Amino acid sequence: KIKTIKDLSGVGQALLGKLTEAGYSTLESIAVASPQDLSTAAGIPLTTAQRIIKEARDALDIRFKTALEIEQERANVKKITTGSQALDGLLGGGIETRTMTELFGEFGSGKTQICHQVSVNVQLPPEKGGLSGKALYIDTEGTFRTERIKAMASAIGLDPKEVLQNIMSIRAINTDHQIAIVEELQDIIARDESIKLIVVDSVTSHFRAEYSGRENLAVRQQKLNRHLHQLVRLAEIYDLAVIVTNQVMARPDMFYGDPTVAVGGHTLYHVPGIRVQIKKSRGNRRIARMVDAPHLPEGEVVFSITNTGIRD
Ligand code: ADP
Ligand code: MG
Repeated sequence: KIKTIKDLSGVGQALLGKLTEAGYSTLESIAVASPQDLSTAAGIPLTTAQRIIKEARDALDIRFKTALEIEQERANVKKITTGSQALDGLLGGGIETRTMTELFGEFGSGKTQICHQVSVNVQLPPEKGGLSGKALYIDTEGTFRTERIKAMASAIGLDPKEVLQNIMSIRAINTDHQIAIVEELQDIIARDESIKLIVVDSVTSHFRAEYSGRENLAVRQQKLNRHLHQLVRLAEIYDLAVIVTNQVMARPDMFYGDPTVAVGGHTLYHVPGIRVQIKKSRGNRRIARMVDAPHLPEGEVVFSITNTGIRD
């Protein structure tokens, strides 16, 4: 099955190099290219360009589909419970596969706790709200805690040691490292299709630190966008859930409008998926607000963060 450019027929190291250099680094970019452009840019015969464009389109299943076909595809989307019925309800049943879910909110709002909880819950059998799957956890802030995993696992009757064994975590040290990790995920997941959840907590912190300042904004947006699209692709190809977190800062200098601003700027808006804002409320109560989902109504629910995890 064709999953990357490397899998297209006749694309070896040499041609792969030419394509990448010409800016064609994803199946999508090839699928939507014109044969003329691709041929000129990569210095390949027109017939080769036509062939790989067709293959890329077939692989991505880019064609008109009947609404019935689309409905059947949507029916295959699976959901992972968050531990809170209210939050699941807001999400239309839970965290969806084939989609990227962005959690954004202030420091301490509970983004990391939700990521931990879903990494545990994905291991539950389907009848209990899981996918009997494993989780990959990309930790950029050093906030992954096995204590929290164990507490959450025990609370729902799972063996803590087994649950720890089914979560693979890696600390990403900078943007380049974070990007490289996601680029390698394809191979890791292809070898182990029991991986049903990818977490990137947080997806924006390194980008913010390394590309601060107005003059770096364009480069940051471009790199972050590509990174996010790669994650969305993995969700779609492997029918798995992707959760990314995005810290927003309180803006004391803002007197009206939303006093928090998403750190990724507007970048994340251009990536398909579900966006949920988490806000602090009284004590351990939190408010989740559906910001923009293609098929879900906007709305707000309350949930809590407890010692045993996310609950109503
Ligand atoms: P974010 O990732 O959005 O910055 P976190 O997910 O780290 O926020 O949430 C931190 C909050 O989670 C803490 O302020 C606390 O309220 C709650 N929390 C963390 N650990 C526990 C625990 N063991 N028991 C109860 N609540 C906890
Ligand atoms: Mg966090």
